[in-house]
Amino acid sequence: MEANRSKAMFRAAIVKMAPYVPGEQPKPGQRLIKLNTNENPYPPSPHVRRAIARAAVGSRLRLYPAPRADEFVASAAQLYRIPMRMIMAGNGSDELLAMLFRATLGRGDKVAYPSPTYSLYDTLAAIQEARVIRIPFPSDFALPVEELVRTDAKLTVICNPNSPSGTFTPIKTLDALSRRLEPKLIAIDEAYVDFADDNALRLIKRRPNVIVLRTLSKSFSLAGMRLGLCFASPDVTKTLMKVKDSYNLSRLALAAGAAALDDAGWMRRNVKHIRRTRATTERALIRLGFEVLPSSANFVLARLRGHDLTDLTARLRRRGILVRHFASPALRDALRISIGTPREMTALFKALESLVPPPTRAPRNSDS
Ligand code: PMP
Repeated sequence: MEANRSKAMFRAAIVKMAPYVPGEQPKPGQRLIKLNTNENPYPPSPHVRRAIARAAVGSRLRLYPAPRADEFVASAAQLYRIPMRMIMAGNGSDELLAMLFRATLGRGDKVAYPSPTYSLYDTLAAIQEARVIRIPFPSDFALPVEELVRTDAKLTVICNPNSPSGTFTPIKTLDALSRRLEPKLIAIDEAYVDFADDNALRLIKRRPNVIVLRTLSKSFSLAGMRLGLCFASPDVTKTLMKVKDSYNLSRLALAAGAAALDDAGWMRRNVKHIRRTRATTERALIRLGFEVLPSSANFVLARLRGHDLTDLTARLRRRGILVRHFASPALRDALRISIGTPREMTALFKALESLVPPPTRAPRNSDS
């Protein structure tokens, strides 16, 4: 759009900001091995489809859904043993993040997070005209606690396990950080936490400044339904509720979400398979010469030091395999690879074998 015209139409901050770029979604009928947006390769619980069908029976869709997502929230309360007043449902956790940024950050307010992390935070901060303080992770992705405390930001966001690194910060560290940030808010984005060994949910009971965000898009295989959960103190959920769309989840989504949470055993079995495939993936990539960070998520970050992997990503795409490559200079030599089925991963390893230069061997010691 012509610059003057868009300035007349929109806020300057929106005209200026870069849009969030989601990973590629194949067109209907396109057959690709999709390892680029961390979806689950296994289907959701069969109870989900039945629940959706029941929710659509007769004229039920004529009526608005429950504004507070009662049936979905009740299932979450039961599964996680958390009172309903400490839970809020969102149209994916992206919507919950948007509500959080909208409710906490005005123009010039500080928001802090380690970097690189989930890039949607940048987009949401730009919309609010907030001031972003990015604290670089060290190469092992240990959380830069002291620097985060020093920012004195109104909101601190920690993605744990972090994307795109897959690395996990111990809950003890997050507990200590939360205590030091009090009364400022800290949001812990646990989109991938079901693939890890621990989680931060217990912190919301003793720390009134902690918000935990979850999604059903990954471990519960429901990215297409758009279901997220926010856990926090009753005061925090009550305030966040003020910026919520009245009917943010459809009747079909609410029925699907409740059915999925009620059959958490199904999710746990899928997670077990994915964790097993993650271990074989890490080993295979290391054999191919990649550096792989230990992952607690359903993806791995694989690096070929010093190589720009833009071209490799395009070559994999031509062979029908989608992986995620990020434009930022710090990640140019890395691929984020979602964990698919064992068969999908074998296809990836085969393709990489022919595309990646053989690993350089350490020079022989001439004395031996
Ligand atoms: N947080 C992180 C770290 C993510 O990677 C994603 C998925 N892109 C989300 C939140 C959002 O998940 P959803 O909106 O599908 O619930």
